Amino acid sequence: MEKTKKLPSGSEGEWKQKLTSEQYHVCRLGGTETPFTGKLLHNNEKGTYTCVACGNELFSADTKFESGTGWPSFYDVMKSENVKLRADGRSGMHRTEALCANCGSHLGHVFDDGPKPTGKRYCINSVALEFIPEKKGK
Ligand code: FE
Repeated sequence: MEKTKKLPSGSEGEWKQKLTSEQYHVCRLGGTETPFTGKLLHNNEKGTYTCVACGNELFSADTKFESGTGWPSFYDVMKSENVKLRADGRSGMHRTEALCANCGSHLGHVFDDGPKPTGKRYCINSVALEFIPEKKGK
C-alpha cells in the first residue's frame, strides 16, 4: 500500500458534504466542466495547483500554458507520484485519465500534443484544482 496523507475516509456521502455539487460531479463522477468557464483558466500567477478535494500538490504554475482548449493546461506534473494515470475508454475514445494519486479524484485527461520539453498536455478541470499563490519575496 502506498502511504497516503489527509485521505478522507471517503464514503460518497462524505464527499458530497465536503465538495460543491460541481466539484463532486467532476472529481468523484469523472465529469467535465464547461470549457472557458473555469476560474483558473487564465490564472498566470506563480504558485502551486493542488487537489481541491485533499490538498495534494499536483501542478506548478511554471508548467501552465495557454492551450486554447478552454481548460487549464500543463505540460508536466509537479511530482509523478502525485498524479495517477489510467486508460479511459469512456465516451468511445481511448484517452488517458489523470487522477489525484492521494484521494482518487478525477482531474482531467492527458494528451500527446503538448509543448516541449515533455510533449504532454495535461488538460485539467479548473474546479478540481485549488491555487496556492507563491509567497512574495521567496
Ligand atoms: Fe486528491
